[in-house]
Amino acid sequence: MAPLVDGWGREIGSVRVSVTDKCNFRCRYCMPADGLEWLPHAELLTFEEIARLVRVLAAMGVGEVRLTGGEPLARRGLPELVALLSTVDGVHDLSLTTNGVLLDRLAAPLVRAGLTRLNVSLDSLNHVRFAQMTRRDALDRVLAGLEEAERHPQLRPIKVNCVAVRGFTEIEVPALAELARRKPYVVRFIEFMPLDADEAWRGDEVLSGAEIRALVEARWGPLVELPTKASSTARRFRFADGIGELGFVSPVSEPFCSACDRIRVTADGQLRTCLFSRREWDLKGPLRAGASDAELEQLIRHAVRHKELKHRINDAGFVRASRSMSQIGG
Ligand code: SAM
Ligand code: SF4
Repeated sequence: MAPLVDGWGREIGSVRVSVTDKCNFRCRYCMPADGLEWLPHAELLTFEEIARLVRVLAAMGVGEVRLTGGEPLARRGLPELVALLSTVDGVHDLSLTTNGVLLDRLAAPLVRAGLTRLNVSLDSLNHVRFAQMTRRDALDRVLAGLEEAERHPQLRPIKVNCVAVRGFTEIEVPALAELARRKPYVVRFIEFMPLDADEAWRGDEVLSGAEIRALVEARWGPLVELPTKASSTARRFRFADGIGELGFVSPVSEPFCSACDRIRVTADGQLRTCLFSRREWDLKGPLRAGASDAELEQLIRHAVRHKELKHRINDAGFVRASRSMSQIGG
């Protein structure tokens, strides 16, 4: 079957599927303290509906599937979905992004179901500061989740994601870099993007990847850059002595839109062609109205032809996305 190609000639190889908009954390860069209005359960795609979409996408060459949310592990029975997706022809990479708080219980069933990769969010290794950022006192549980994930060699690499916010993250950098050296984790710093539901983001709060790299290099000496796939969002570096790997995801200071190969499906079945889309394409309606696979394929191809060229975070007059990060699926 023909690959899925956007109007700018980029081939789509990766889909992020949100399984819920709900979350048990309230990270400041993502959600308001009081949470958001959750979607009614009937609006969420069922596991069978998600698997059907993934089958249609995989047939077009979208072989990389990442489950996210909200907090994906808060969706009951998630290992059942992983088991369904791991048998889809053409899916060669099945991964999950989680805040890690339920991971100590769920790592084993997820691995049994066929999960092969994991990203865990972690902004601080200090209990008080972790709670300041996530508004939950849950550092020990997240660390226990990471330890449990480590016991499963099938889950590699384990990536630890930290959203870099100026005035907060600078102090965390040495401990997080040490973590990358001490543990088999790739620690990645992600620039803060204007996707927070509070709409408090300001450009000067973005702590860039280059600034963090300079902090690391001041302590450990020059980092050595590693090769990446063209579509990779992160630049990868190892320490000069070969112990540990760091990644920098810098969508604001070093946009990677020209190589973007991603689309997203929200928990309520809307196709988004960019994190910063103002427009969504309804897949749930047609799915539930009995659309054939060929009709779904045509709909997806049409939407993808309209994929945005790039985000405009740095442009005057930038307009925020129509939903915030936890509602989209980061
Ligand atoms: N709840 C899970 C978690 O936190 O890993 C999965 C969903 S979360 C929305 C996915 C990723 O988006 C996390 O790594 C999170 O840190 C990141 N994120 C959330 N808000 C962000 C923002 N405003 N800018 C950059 N990254 C953000
Ligand atoms: Fe929840 Fe993840 Fe958003 Fe934090 S970043 S509030 S854990 S969805």
